[in-house]
Amino acid sequence: IVEGTTKVSVPVPPPDATFPPSAAPVFYNPEMELNRDINVAATAAFVKRLLSRKELLREEVRYVDAFSASGIRGLRIAGEVGIHATMNDWSPEAFELIKENIKINGLEEKTLATRKSANVLLHEQKYHIVDIDPFGTPSPFLDAASASVRSMLSVTATDTAPLCGAHLKAGIRKYAAVPLNTEYHSEMGLRVLLGACARELAKHEKGMSPLLSHVTRHYVRAYLDVLPGTKQTDRTLKSIGFSIHCPKCGFRGPVYGLAVHIEKECPVCGASTQIAGPLWLGPFREQAFCDEVISELEVHPLNTKDKAKKIITFCRDELDIPMFYDQHVICKELGASATGIEILIIALKAHGFEASRTHFSGTSFRTDAPIAEIKEIIRAL
Ligand code: SAM
Repeated sequence: IVEGTTKVSVPVPPPDATFPPSAAPVFYNPEMELNRDINVAATAAFVKRLLSRKELLREEVRYVDAFSASGIRGLRIAGEVGIHATMNDWSPEAFELIKENIKINGLEEKTLATRKSANVLLHEQKYHIVDIDPFGTPSPFLDAASASVRSMLSVTATDTAPLCGAHLKAGIRKYAAVPLNTEYHSEMGLRVLLGACARELAKHEKGMSPLLSHVTRHYVRAYLDVLPGTKQTDRTLKSIGFSIHCPKCGFRGPVYGLAVHIEKECPVCGASTQIAGPLWLGPFREQAFCDEVISELEVHPLNTKDKAKKIITFCRDELDIPMFYDQHVICKELGASATGIEILIIALKAHGFEASRTHFSGTSFRTDAPIAEIKEIIRAL
């Protein structure tokens, strides 16, 4: 198969459509091409930033694909971004396939195949860019990844049910955070993951700033600028906190900080609230970085270019106000019919509020309008 300009050999799945990619001797999921296309563009954009700091030459930037399977992710970085990539997988079949795929692409000089437990490798070696794309949760690998990483940490999580609060106990076990299964559960999942990454990095006296994160289909993906030092770490932890949710009236609000007192009563309707956290409450992407990724998407030959551009553009244009609203949920409560989302956004702006769409769903929006005003505006539409 070919993704971007990289050609790899992967196990051919039987014609039976129920056969999951994880049942193959070596894993390859064609649905993750979009994730890997964005990875090529985001890594290329980040490498340009690293090189502009003049501390490094392109040949010296080292990337690790710690859970490599066929090698596709790391090979694409070596071939399409042009930096050194280590592809690691503890499976003997995967290790052999990675070596074969390195040869197919003639990338022997720019790559290294290893067959280790990812945690062992990441505790042994330091890399500028650490990419962890395991099965399910990245949580057992975040400590080692945080120890290893020097410049950018890229993380995929496919355990959306624990992250989003659908499997509450599993979420608490994996991330030491309480998620809430609300209509904005996808954003909840992203903020649980980002919060966990910030706390893992903090143990190694590294701060972080999210460059880009998105929730697409069944996974969460984040690209984090890693900022070493105690000052940066303490500054990062200021973006951690809790989120209050009122199940009665729909009020939601952030409470910044870990050592905080939280009122259980909803400030709008007085009902008992629910509390999620600790969570990342800061921005989950940097607008300038999104622009740089969009420029990279333009210049690389990618099969999912249009979809990728749409996602990154939505991410870029979202307001930095935690926890979106879903128009359909509010309309259902009010017995009102939903308008086009753009019409609602125009109406909110016309009332002097900030409002934007989100990449999380087509019926969702962000606004600084209080819940009572949002309902009034929806009723009047
Ligand atoms: N990154 C790949 C891609 O984009 O196609 C997919 C990786 S797949 C989801 C996870 C891989 O991690 C499997 O090939 C599995 O053998 C490997 N793996 C699982 N646990 C591991 C561990 N602790 N150390 C190293 N490899 C591991």
